[in-house]
Amino acid sequence: MTAGPIAIALTIAGSDSSGGAVIQADLKTFSAFGVYGASVITALTAQNTRGVVGVDPVAASFVGAQIDAVLSDLDVRAIKTGMLAAEAAFEALSAGRVQDELAAFPECFRKSWLYDELYTARNFKPLMSGNLYTGAMMVGIDQVLFRGRAPWTLTHRNADHETLRPKSECTPIVYPKPDGVLTFDRLSSVFVSNTNHEEDQPSHLRLRDPSIPVSVNLAVYDGPETRYCPAGVYEFVQEGGTARLQINAQNCVHCKTCDIKDPKQNIEWVVPEGGGGPNYPNM
Ligand code: SF4
Repeated sequence: MTAGPIAIALTIAGSDSSGGAVIQADLKTFSAFGVYGASVITALTAQNTRGVVGVDPVAASFVGAQIDAVLSDLDVRAIKTGMLAAEAAFEALSAGRVQDELAAFPECFRKSWLYDELYTARNFKPLMSGNLYTGAMMVGIDQVLFRGRAPWTLTHRNADHETLRPKSECTPIVYPKPDGVLTFDRLSSVFVSNTNHEEDQPSHLRLRDPSIPVSVNLAVYDGPETRYCPAGVYEFVQEGGTARLQINAQNCVHCKTCDIKDPKQNIEWVVPEGGGGPNYPNM
């Protein structure tokens, strides 16, 4: 059996001198999937993990020349771009604008098919947040009768983090132990996600007030971060008779639940260094 020709994909994006994003990250991803990567650079940046020092946009005519050169020679099967945001960024960079707001991005998004799809599904979750049967009937009306174009948009009554109830109002749930067949412990699941972060970087999970995890989260809510985090990142450890929150940031799978769910909005999720995080090579 002979192997088929290697697939070729083209990425059209800016260059990140720190290697953590855009062209450099795309080429690494292509390589991980056994895909040959070609690239068209739309802008050069001088940046590192702390910020962008400078941006030098590539002239539109030269972007076009790069695309022509690649497509006239290579059998490109797929093209990846930063899509809507990149279009807005490219427009801004071509006009010599740097470090201002990409106001064109929301407009591009509104004109895209993505906005249409999300708009028609906007009422689903608010309708299903109450009674299951009433919700299912209303979703049917919303989706079948109005085809997602009802003249109303429902919203949630509360932000998610406001709905947590104190432990005094709840009965602990005793979950069965993972059976290793259908259910697995969290750290085994983190292992298969190939999550990796550089060990010597500052934690990308920051506490606005370091005292709140013990004084509020543990005291009032019995440490919800130890339960909602799917990767077991948060642990309360005892030191000298007092509890302390330990954050195992290297296990974080970037779901951002903690950023959304923390009852006092005390956890700030920031982008980790160098493109670290989960990596699902078979997806
Ligand atoms: S982002 Fe998700 S995986 Fe990471 S620490 Fe927060 S809850 Fe855990």
